[in-house]
Amino acid sequence: MALPLPKRARVEGDRKVCMVTGGTGMVGKAIEHEIKAQRPEGEKWIFLSRKDADLRDMGATRAVFEKYRPTHVLHLAAMVGGLFKNLKYKADFLRENMLINDCVLHCCYEFQVQKCVSCLSTCIFPDKTTYPIDETMIHDGPPHESNFGYAYAKRLIDIQNRAYHEQYGCCFTSVIPTNVFGLYDNFELEDSHVIPGLIHKCYNAKRDDTPLTVWGSGRPLRQFIFAEDLAKLMVWALREYDEISPLILSVDEDQEVSIREVAEMVAKGIEFKGKLEFDSSKSDGQFKKTASNAKLRKFLPKFQFSNLEKAIEETVDWFILNYDELRR
Ligand code: NAP
Ligand code: GDP
Repeated sequence: MALPLPKRARVEGDRKVCMVTGGTGMVGKAIEHEIKAQRPEGEKWIFLSRKDADLRDMGATRAVFEKYRPTHVLHLAAMVGGLFKNLKYKADFLRENMLINDCVLHCCYEFQVQKCVSCLSTCIFPDKTTYPIDETMIHDGPPHESNFGYAYAKRLIDIQNRAYHEQYGCCFTSVIPTNVFGLYDNFELEDSHVIPGLIHKCYNAKRDDTPLTVWGSGRPLRQFIFAEDLAKLMVWALREYDEISPLILSVDEDQEVSIREVAEMVAKGIEFKGKLEFDSSKSDGQFKKTASNAKLRKFLPKFQFSNLEKAIEETVDWFILNYDELRR
């Protein structure tokens, strides 16, 4: 059976047109900042928000691809949230993200995008596994039950990438960052990730002269990557990483920290001198998901990650400065 001819991307001379879905979120803003600093010649960058197109809708997605004719896509748009949002909205995480990924990747195929890099997450790895986790282990067993909706939708991107490559020869790949934090994060109290959630709670605790309540036991371990570092790595991946199989973007294994240590860094950043309490009635989530960055280190052996404590301080300063406008 003849395959339908994909629509050819318009290349303006040799100029690349790089389109970022989810360009208004934390990671998208960090990439925009990085591109402003680099001012790359021969690349035009477009940062999409939900207002440009609801990417759950194929018609709207096609229209935005038709408008910009990207040659390269960084696909970040997703329903995103911390452990406690994932526990509440499993069906929404699964469906919204499957719809978004289907529309974006199929349009990348239809419009002959030369390369698409999508964003997965280390929380999609199997719960029962051996450590450190590497790129080959994504599908080796069920994810942690707390976030299986998000995890299966994200795992499917890797399957989609392989299928589009094998059937149509598309160069679609993915990166797998660990827990990300930084400027423009979502600082809501309930639904955010741990660092922005604790920054907001600690700010309130200092203001109200109350203890800081950390959810769970404080014992789980995490590797955190500053959005600024992730942005540099994702821009590099779009230009240089040509495998279809994913690439973990993580700090070294010895940089893994406990939630208690992170809470202490947040308290230091806020200059909070009160007590830390641990509410063990709340979920700990996955105990750890220690990831290996050996594959990344083969490509970029000298890449310097930001110091965690300093990056948390920078995020706290940004939170205080932008308190009136930010997501909280
Ligand atoms: P974020 O700040 O919540 O940003 C999400 C972005 O997706 C926003 O630009 C949002 O647009 C857009 N979006 C959501 N639903 C959309 C829809 N239906 N149509 C169009 N756009 C939509 O998230 P982030 O933390 O930057 O995450 C970026 C990527 O990194 C995601 O793929 C996420 O899964 C992945 N990741 C994040 C972490 C983490 O710890 N944050 C860890 C690993 C991987 P609006 O602003 O217009 O709503
Ligand atoms: P995860 O890494 O995907 O589990 O996502 P999170 O960024 O939500 O981190 C969850 C871990 O931080 C769990 O061990 C929680 O018990 C712990 N934690 C402590 N306080 C908070 C908080 O205020 N918000 C969130 N989201 N997690 C918290």
